[in-house]
Amino acid sequence: MSPDRSRSTQRFAESATPVETLSRRYVACAATTIALVMTALSMGTGRAHAQGGATGARPPASTTVPRPDAQASAVRKWREQHEVEIVRELTTLLEIPNRATDRANILRNANLIKAMLERRGLAAQLLENGEFPPTVFGELRVPGATRTVMFYAHYDGQPVTVSEWATPAYSPTLRAPPQADGSLGAVRTGPVNGRYNAEDRIYARSASDDKSPIVALMSALDAMRATGQLPSVNVKFFFEGEEEAGSAHLSEILAKHKELVAADVWLICDGPAHQSRDLQIVFGVRGVMGFDATVYGPARALHSGHYGNWAPNPAMLITELIASLRNSDGRILVDRFYDDVVPPTASELAAARALPPVEADMRRALLLGASEAGNAPIAERIMLPALNIHGIKVGEVGELSNNAIPTEA
Ligand SMILES: [Zn+2]
Repeated sequence: MSPDRSRSTQRFAESATPVETLSRRYVACAATTIALVMTALSMGTGRAHAQGGATGARPPASTTVPRPDAQASAVRKWREQHEVEIVRELTTLLEIPNRATDRANILRNANLIKAMLERRGLAAQLLENGEFPPTVFGELRVPGATRTVMFYAHYDGQPVTVSEWATPAYSPTLRAPPQADGSLGAVRTGPVNGRYNAEDRIYARSASDDKSPIVALMSALDAMRATGQLPSVNVKFFFEGEEEAGSAHLSEILAKHKELVAADVWLICDGPAHQSRDLQIVFGVRGVMGFDATVYGPARALHSGHYGNWAPNPAMLITELIASLRNSDGRILVDRFYDDVVPPTASELAAARALPPVEADMRRALLLGASEAGNAPIAERIMLPALNIHGIKVGEVGELSNNAIPTEA
């Protein structure tokens, strides 16, 4: 996911993981996502079906349909007994570099994920797209199921700046939780008696965003089969290889494979847990659109003593322009901007208000005296369009500062 790339700190960087600019990523364990997947796979017809599908899925051990809480606890128990294998499958995937433009390694990732699907008896294929990263597609048909759920995740990752990594990005490293001052936790040697400390983290590129969901989904399938359950819906998987590079060819792939990718619902497994650390399913995803703008001043830098108040200063022009775009409550002031913005409904607002309150804790942890719109709840705020500035580059400061009216901003 490419949400607003603002910086966050400490425990909210842990729970609200999509801080795309932070290079160290971690995931405690695939277990929480398995629970989410359990919820997801239980949707649909509400009935479990007894046999493996035409794709060669193995039949479950029993045909009884346990209650949802019993299902969840059976899966949880299975997961506790298989943490070592789950984490091993994740670290094997994390060891393969995954920048979208690294063709050779992207294909290694794609082929490994395809093999992971096939090992579980799913029909899997690479949806090739010329020189661009293929999508790994998998399908589990469930006899009698009338609905289809698509699970999306992406296997590519952001580029790595080697100097920002305490340990190499493609050498997954297990660590204790960060210390109180925010510094890295101690390196762990591995599981103890087959169990991981649920608060430990694996540091590697894409450990959380977004390879972990892929392994969690596979593990959820394993757990369901091992505990005699089968999804009540047809299940498809769409693992993209170009998300962090802007998904430039996603629409082509979707158009080309229209029937293959048809589903009643897509679950995008590429978002954060709630800041309270509870699991969450979010209806709708915030999109992002960006641009660079340049404001020009004089053709060459001018002495501010000789030309100030005469030559327009691009630093002033750009800040005035930006300040005119929104007010301090985030209301976008561009004419007619809200004409096609659908406001949240009363039930959506009620759902947002029913979320655990986390704002006061977050303000404290982030050293914010106040948040926008009179400390309004974050869930309400992110349902509205936001206009943000990623950076302004103009002139020189500090040691390089000089008395100049710059040429552009
Ligand atoms: Zn992502």
